[in-house]
Amino acid sequence: MTAGTPACVFCEIVAGRAQAHRVGENDRALAILDIFPYSHGHTLILSKRHVPLWYDLTEKEAGDLFALAHRVARRLSRAFDSEFVWLMARGRRIPHTHIFLVPTQHGDVLDRFFNGLQNVQETSEELSPLRALASREEAARRIIGPARTRSSRQRSGSRRTRKP
Ligand SMILES: [Zn+2]
Repeated sequence: MTAGTPACVFCEIVAGRAQAHRVGENDRALAILDIFPYSHGHTLILSKRHVPLWYDLTEKEAGDLFALAHRVARRLSRAFDSEFVWLMARGRRIPHTHIFLVPTQHGDVLDRFFNGLQNVQETSEELSPLRALASREEAARRIIGPARTRSSRQRSGSRRTRKP
């Protein structure tokens, strides 16, 4: 099940050949504490199989990964009385799927970072073309294909009948 490369530190941890603080596990995922935490309790959820990009996992692996993330996040929230547990999928710097779970508090380093990012998202001139309806419609076409795309405008003019 863990046919990873010998050089991968996460594969070594999954195989038990490298040390880590294990804080949870299921069939296809393992939870360990990050050694460079953003906050107290910062946890990584690893896929047990060596897969760099999380969306290349099988559906069962993805299910186990997020089920473990969900279970551990609830524990983190209680253990650290956090305002929120932040989640992010990684797999580029260390090319083995891992989810960051970081308990955060109002005004801490991640809260300030994401408030700044949100401000950019909502006010940036550079991003303003992407906020236009036509841009979102074009994005939807690219994601789901032209035949299945229905914007709210198209839906309101639809002739589909509803059962009374
Ligand atoms: Zn690996």
